[in-house]
Amino acid sequence: MITKIIHEDKIQKAHKYVEKGESFVIITHVSPDGDAIGSALGLFHFLGAYGKDNVSVIVPNDYPMFLKWLPGSKDVTIYEKYSEFADQLIADADVIFCLDFNDPKRVEKLADPILKSEARKVLIDHHLNPVDFCNVTMSYPSISSTSEMVFRFICRMGLFDLISKEGAECIYAGMMTDTGSFTYNSNHPEIYTIIGELIKKGIDKDLIYRRINQVYSEGRLRLMGYSLYEKMKVYPEKQAALITLSMDELNRFNYQTGDTEGFVNLPLSIDGISFTVFIREDTDYAKISLRSVGDFPCNEFASKYFNGGGHKNASGGEFYGSLADAIKTFEEGLIHFYPNKAEDFVKDK
Ligand code: 5GP
Ligand code: MN
Repeated sequence: MITKIIHEDKIQKAHKYVEKGESFVIITHVSPDGDAIGSALGLFHFLGAYGKDNVSVIVPNDYPMFLKWLPGSKDVTIYEKYSEFADQLIADADVIFCLDFNDPKRVEKLADPILKSEARKVLIDHHLNPVDFCNVTMSYPSISSTSEMVFRFICRMGLFDLISKEGAECIYAGMMTDTGSFTYNSNHPEIYTIIGELIKKGIDKDLIYRRINQVYSEGRLRLMGYSLYEKMKVYPEKQAALITLSMDELNRFNYQTGDTEGFVNLPLSIDGISFTVFIREDTDYAKISLRSVGDFPCNEFASKYFNGGGHKNASGGEFYGSLADAIKTFEEGLIHFYPNKAEDFVKDK
């Protein structure tokens, strides 16, 4: 039995939208990750099975190759490439589902058309402090992935039978990627009840793991080695580590979108390190990823220094300036951020 975490009135209201709507758009955040794509496609398959034949998934920009095998991926519209087409879908939609983000800013240029659209809007997400821009806001930060929330939402409408094997694969992929293959944020026993239900749908969870985690290029593995050997700086007294990569360095290793996914986690395997940051230079900004274990709130660090946010142990942000200045900002942040509390951030293994 799975606990009823999502409030009943929200389920009922969203259920009505599902029942009555004819055209649906599902939107997720910029630089979509496994949970974003997994939850969006999980919901996409469900709505198809419900009998809705006008369902579109729109993402702000492209996403990594290792997610492209997910069933339904070929139908995803990338806003950067097909914005006029997507604008029309959004304007014509009866219902818009906003998945895995808590603030219109997180969908960048898609924010405008969404906010202007007269569609009913449903937010399904697990980030803290959602902005109030939807008719129904299902926001539960205690749930480890939006994909799990999509599963819970479908079941609570009494429609578990409409989860196909394909839908289950997408939901599992999202649950797996947002918990580092169930190595963090994954102690809730119901996660494993849900996985059991997904396996009953016919998914091969081991194969999903391999298709996501073991399909990289030689360049990516060499880039990982280079990052660790040449580019990782450790700050033992702060229990912190930093990896930075410039565009030149990325190009040397024939960088493809997604190749640095997970690099931010690597220094956490050093004993005594509980806060790590990864900075990747891009054309006009630097993308920042932050991770921690234990109590260190990297979302607060992200928000204070990198115009970002996220979860306590996994956050991101952006820096508009040179790579050198981004590094300086990080190092100054390390000095000033909770300067007397370093001893509190003991790794909680
Ligand atoms: P990642 O490091 O994988 O890009 O992001 C980790 C988490 O941080 C994401 O799941 C998301 O919650 C959050 N995040 C990433 N980038 C940003 C950002 O630019 N702004 C905010 N507010 N959150 C972000
Ligand atoms: Mn997520």
